[in-house]
Amino acid sequence: MTTYLHLKDTFVGGIEAGGTKFKCVIGYNNGDIIAAKTFQTTNPTDTFAQAKAFFKEAIELFGEINALGIAHFGPVDIDTSSTNYGRILASTKKNWSDTDVVGYFAKAFNVPISFQSDVNGAAIGEHNLGNAQGIDNFVYITVGTGIGGGIFVNGELLNHKSHAEIGHMMIPKDMAQDTFKGCCPFHTNCLEGLASGPAIEKRWETAGQYLNNKHQAWALEAHYLALLCINLTYSLAPEKIIFGGGVMQQLQLLPLIREKFTAMMKGYAPASYSPTNEHYISPTGLGEDSAIKGALILAKQAYDDQNGVFINSALKQACQVQASQVV
Ligand code: ADP
Ligand code: ZN
Repeated sequence: MTTYLHLKDTFVGGIEAGGTKFKCVIGYNNGDIIAAKTFQTTNPTDTFAQAKAFFKEAIELFGEINALGIAHFGPVDIDTSSTNYGRILASTKKNWSDTDVVGYFAKAFNVPISFQSDVNGAAIGEHNLGNAQGIDNFVYITVGTGIGGGIFVNGELLNHKSHAEIGHMMIPKDMAQDTFKGCCPFHTNCLEGLASGPAIEKRWETAGQYLNNKHQAWALEAHYLALLCINLTYSLAPEKIIFGGGVMQQLQLLPLIREKFTAMMKGYAPASYSPTNEHYISPTGLGEDSAIKGALILAKQAYDDQNGVFINSALKQACQVQASQVV
């Protein structure tokens, strides 16, 4: 039997677990969302209980889900052969280290589960349905409670036993310009400690959403994010860098990042980058839904894996060619 991936959508559940917001949805892997609920990420017990209650109610109303995709803030163990698979590793978020995420939801719903970092989920969402469609080499970055990134190389998620931790890269810092020591409990001078939402709040004693869009915070923020873009450009030569997350709701940031990025590169760039390409550093195509839609796609992958549909890019391509011939 030939299975045509993407021809038929599957009814699934999705979770996007951020450090501040916990989003649950049911819907289809084409990104259609039927019901959704967002609540605060507090402690694992209360937060998971709210998620479980949402899915129970949604399933009663709309029917059984076939699988669940979870895009969770990290670091998370995504190695299915590991004894810690499905758990949160040593985390910057208090009370969440060693939480067994997959174990909890597998027990609650008994459906196939696919588990990824939130930013890998968002990268999958953007690649399939958003601003990275047809782009095989790109990085998705979120700037929110934490900073993290999902990387696609040659059309595949860079995903092996572990996921990247881009947010904790060390960033050159001029102590005369910025005396703030950073808020990462593990490092000083890592990007997340200097430029995440909590870092902005701690440095300026006001959360980013309450700062004027002309505040000096944004030039400094753009400086640090431009350094991130330079490091990504020189190490990965992506075709695109996509920025999402709560802090990026400051729309003045993207043009500032582009300006500082170009100025600091000083013309030394890989061929994948063109200074005239204003889309090189770009916003998400899915608004705030990159990770939650990615979670629905992850769920579909878990469902297909369980049902013996072997997913790899070559097969997917072959299926899509065949699918385009079926009218
Ligand atoms: P999560 O990390 O749970 O996915 P967000 O991406 O919304 O959630 O990140 C939350 C962080 O983003 C908080 O530190 C908050 O202060 C900051 N933030 C949210 N909205 C804005 C905004 N409009 N401008 C600047 N910062 C914001
Ligand atoms: Zn750090």
